[in-house]
Amino acid sequence: MTIASTATQQKLDRSAPVFIAGRRGLVGSALWRHFTDEGFTALMGPSSAELDLRDRQSVFRWFAENQPHTVILAAARVGGIKANATRPTEFISENLRIQVNVLDAALQYGVQRLLFLGSSCIYPKAAAQPIREDALLTGPLEETNDAYALAKIAGIMQVKAVRRQHSRTWISVMPTNLYGPGDNFHPEHSHVLPSLIRRFHQAKVENAPEVTNWGTGTPRREFLHVDDLARACLLLLERYDSDSPINVGTGEDLTIRELAEMVASVVGYAGGLGWDAAQSDGTPRKLLDVSRITALGWKPEIGLRDGITGTYAWYRSKCDKNQK
Ligand code: GDP
Repeated sequence: MTIASTATQQKLDRSAPVFIAGRRGLVGSALWRHFTDEGFTALMGPSSAELDLRDRQSVFRWFAENQPHTVILAAARVGGIKANATRPTEFISENLRIQVNVLDAALQYGVQRLLFLGSSCIYPKAAAQPIREDALLTGPLEETNDAYALAKIAGIMQVKAVRRQHSRTWISVMPTNLYGPGDNFHPEHSHVLPSLIRRFHQAKVENAPEVTNWGTGTPRREFLHVDDLARACLLLLERYDSDSPINVGTGEDLTIRELAEMVASVVGYAGGLGWDAAQSDGTPRKLLDVSRITALGWKPEIGLRDGITGTYAWYRSKCDKNQK
């Protein structure tokens, strides 16, 4: 399929109800900010206490009562390399349940436009770099997050099945590693960028002579600010219509060591950098090919250093007191 044949032009009605599932999370809160700025007046985003998406009956009841017009599925159990490796049962089971419930209810209650969010870890570990969308299902997955990845692949397949059988304008979007305000800064369970912010900040406060990070520092990763992803999601809902998932990333990566040096410099930590090679490196590289979304007129606007600076400011304002 060519890029041109996937382009569509269907402006969303700003007054129609949009359900942002996962509204309190990193991605959901960025979507909420952006859609509000863009004039959407009927956003819906119950908290997990108000609506447990793992509970099928509650989800169906909620759809019956609220009748969303558009759905963005940004709710998922997510975590960094250690959380994925130690809790694969929750990662596969909860994500499958959340997805199946929301997608089934969206089908039953006539949702015409839906955006399902996955992750770059759905692609094979040995995929050619940068990773094109058609690398999906061409080889074995990275073991540290295969349970999560398989759940997300099932979601892509369900979206594709509904498109084929019910002619709905549903799409799947695969962002690269995300970061930004609202991230999880847990020392063990979070992703690398918030982990580093927290660790370097703490080391600066405590005047620690050295900070030890996980792995060898040699894996390469690509990082996208959530506000850039939020802009991409709205553009894709209005301009993309295809069976194929579409990648969203910056098209640029760096080593974890380079990232650590950048975070240390933003935080103002001047001590030494150590590496604990006993901790898993995960996949050596996952850089997305972003030519499809670039051809639709989107590009990231927030550079990595600026994005880290803003995220560090957010961390200090919100989390510092509680999470030291
Ligand atoms: P991944 O992209 O799925 O592998 O997820 P992560 O963001 O958790 O990890 C990315 C890379 O950063 C891996 O190579 C980790 O070993 C490395 N890393 C270094 N220090 C840390 C840390 O403190 N936390 C996390 N999560 N990863 C770290």
